[in-house]
Amino acid sequence: MGLKISIPFIDLNAMRLELGGDLESAVARTLDSGWYLLGSELEEFEREFAAHCGTRHCVGVASGLSAIELALRAAGVGPGDEVIVPAYTWVATWLAVTRVGARPVGVDVEESTYNIDSRLIDEAVTERTTAIVPVHLRGEPADMDGIEAVAANHDLLVVEDAAQAHGACHRARPVGAIGDAGAFSFYPTKNLGGIGDGGAVTTDDDELAERVRLLRNYGMRDRYEIEYAGVNSRLAEVQAAALRTALPRLDAWNRARASLAEVYLAAFGGHDSVSVPTVPDWADPVWHLFVVGLPNRDSCARSLAERGIETLVHYPLLPSRSGPYRDDWPPGSFPVAERLASSALSLPLYPQLDSTACELVADAVLASVGSPPSA
Ligand SMILES: *Cc1c(COP(=O)(O)O)cnc(C)c1O
Repeated sequence: MGLKISIPFIDLNAMRLELGGDLESAVARTLDSGWYLLGSELEEFEREFAAHCGTRHCVGVASGLSAIELALRAAGVGPGDEVIVPAYTWVATWLAVTRVGARPVGVDVEESTYNIDSRLIDEAVTERTTAIVPVHLRGEPADMDGIEAVAANHDLLVVEDAAQAHGACHRARPVGAIGDAGAFSFYPTKNLGGIGDGGAVTTDDDELAERVRLLRNYGMRDRYEIEYAGVNSRLAEVQAAALRTALPRLDAWNRARASLAEVYLAAFGGHDSVSVPTVPDWADPVWHLFVVGLPNRDSCARSLAERGIETLVHYPLLPSRSGPYRDDWPPGSFPVAERLASSALSLPLYPQLDSTACELVADAVLASVGSPPSA
C-alpha cells in the first residue's frame, strides 16, 4: 500500500512555532503584570477583535457556549421561548438555548452547505418563537439574507453562532456583525484559538453589550451590587494576551486554509463518489473544516488511519439524538442532517499543513472509494 506517512488532523505545535516566541512573551507579560482577570489585555483584545469583526462591541467571555447563552439572555430570551437552531451543528448551539431555559427547535440543513435551510425556518416558527441561532458551520457563512428575512417577518432576534467562522464574510460583511449579536469560541482548535477556553460576544447594540458585560461577572454593576443573577464567565488575561498574538495572523491563516481547500477541491473535482461542499457566490468561507461526504465513510476513515492519516467526524451524532433532546426528536426528524451525519468525514486542514500532504490525503480518499486519483 505504498509508503507509510503521518498526517495529523491538526498540529497546534506547528502554530506555536510559527508564533516564534510571541506566545511565551504574552504569557510572561501577563504574569509580570500580576493582574489576571478583567484587565488591560482583555480590554485591548476586545477592541482589536471588535475592529476585526466590524462591530461596535466585543465582550470576552469564558467559552463559546457561554457566549451564545449570555447573548440570548442579554436579549431577554428565556423560559417559555422557542429558539430555532440548525439540526446539524455542535451540540453547544442547542445547549446554550437550554441553558437560558428556552426550547431549541431544530430545522434541517442544506445538503450542499451543511448550513440551516432558510426555506424551512418559516414553518418551524410558532407564537413562542423569539430567536434564531444560525451557525456558520465549517467556516462557511449561512444564508443570512434568507434568515434575516424570516427574522424580520416574525420579529425574531438573530444570534450568529460564529464559533467556526472567525473572519468569514457574507456579502463582504464579517460574520458576527450581521445578526443582532455574534458568538465566538476561542477553543484551541478554532480558526482563532487560545491556550485554553475562551469566547466572545460581538454586537453593535450598546445595551446588549452592557448586559453581557454585567452577566459575565455575576451580574455585578459596581462592586457588590448585583443587578442580574449572572454567572462567572470571564475571559482570563492570559487568554486575551495569547489571542492578541494570534489575531494579527488570522487573515493569513485563513488564506492558507483556503489554498489547501483549493487543493482538495481540485483533487476531488469530477469524482462523483466524493461530495465536496459548495460555496455560494456571496460567501467567503474560512475553511474551519474540510468535510467530504462519502458513501463508505467509516471504512474510508479506517483505511486512511492505516496509512497514517488522521480524520475526524463532525458530527456522528446530531444534537437532536443526544440525551437531553432524544425524546422530542425521533429518528427521521431531520432527513438531510441525518444523512450527512452518516457520510461526513473531516480531512486534515490547518494553516501550517503542506499542500503535498493534502494531495496524499486526497489520493488516499479516492483510492478508498475505488476512484482512480486525478492525474
Ligand atoms: C466550538 C463550538 C461551540 C462551543 O464553543 P466552546 O468554546 O467549546 O464552548 C459552539 N458552536 C459551535 C458550532 C462550535 O463549533
